[in-house]
Amino acid sequence: MNSLSWITDELAELEQLGLRRRRREIEPLPEGRCRVDGRELWNFAGNDYLNLSQHPRVIRAAHEATTDAGTGATASALVCGHTHWHHRLVEKLAEFEGTESAILFPTGFAANLGVITAVVGREDAVFSDRLNHASLVDGCRLSKAALAVYDREDLESLSAALAGAATARRRLIVTDSIFSMDGDAAPLADLCDLADKHDAMLLIDEAHATGLFGNRGRGLAEQDGVEDRIHFQIGTLSKALGACGGFVCGPAELTDWLWNNARTQMFSTALPPAACAAACAALAIVQSEPTRREELLKRCRRFRAAIQDAELQTIENAIAPIVPILLGNPELAIHTAAALEDRGYLVGAIRPPSVPPGTSRLRITLSSAHDDATIDGLLAALNDALRTAEAMA
Ligand SMILES: *Cc1c(COP(=O)(O)O)cnc(C)c1O
Repeated sequence: MNSLSWITDELAELEQLGLRRRRREIEPLPEGRCRVDGRELWNFAGNDYLNLSQHPRVIRAAHEATTDAGTGATASALVCGHTHWHHRLVEKLAEFEGTESAILFPTGFAANLGVITAVVGREDAVFSDRLNHASLVDGCRLSKAALAVYDREDLESLSAALAGAATARRRLIVTDSIFSMDGDAAPLADLCDLADKHDAMLLIDEAHATGLFGNRGRGLAEQDGVEDRIHFQIGTLSKALGACGGFVCGPAELTDWLWNNARTQMFSTALPPAACAAACAALAIVQSEPTRREELLKRCRRFRAAIQDAELQTIENAIAPIVPILLGNPELAIHTAAALEDRGYLVGAIRPPSVPPGTSRLRITLSSAHDDATIDGLLAALNDALRTAEAMA
């Protein structure tokens, strides 16, 4: 008897459905390029929107911190893992976000999980957008709060669900600010109004907005002018900031409470000093070079318009450097991505469970490293690759 034969069966089933995932070795190169299987490609698949993971100043900061403090933090922040590199990052984040304080987590995923499970429990109710990131979904489930999934196109239902939970001890609405697979924005002002009306708290995940939106690059809440109305603002250092780690910013009392209650940072080793130093350097660049994000967003608008002109199916009201091309079935997404790779472009082929069934897609992400000519090259290759993949299907 092989007690693990079910694993073989499940992998075979995933394979048959076109849903088996495989990772490949990738060699990051400067200027938005990478090498995969010996081929040099333009990288349109990452979340390094401002190309800061390759910035000389960011790299130098990581070197310096490693030389100074070593490679690992050696313990959780509450034991002895909080070095002056961590302290500097906390101060820098609070200054950047215009809040009194900030708290670090090992990843953005851990931040979402840790905050939601600390804030709500069995006596409470949590309201989650149906397209929220997996880390928010898992945080809600793990919290054991009564869970209601809502559709942001139908806020009346959310309002009714909130009213129905009036006797719960606490009510918490959780949402991505920019949706990671669609690139569109949550209706933050409307959600703030609903939170006020129903005495609920609002948690937003700015993973794909930090560094990109708002006058100072703080995110969508800044752009929408609602920062003061959000109870829990969560971000990641791993996307536009090119480093690694998660954070929450807010009043000192809130972060102090989280230091004492969020299990994903209490019981996990603190970030490596290099990640803290890199994130600090990246934040300084976000602050001093607003044209980086402005130009990127301008190119995104141009690219999106071209996608719509080509009558490819995308998400109409998206605003982020995330441009989905909806294809429907997972094999078509895989074949189109492979055909694009033959033409020199790496893009994401996204399938369930990352997106709902029937909405498999290419996920194209733009970064500051891609100029107009490169993007035009991608567009031409995209049309060509789609024809090739459709002919194969
Ligand atoms: C990537 C992502 C996260 C997780 O952040 P990590 O720092 O990579 O763990 C959380 N939320 C959203 C919306 C994301 O896209």
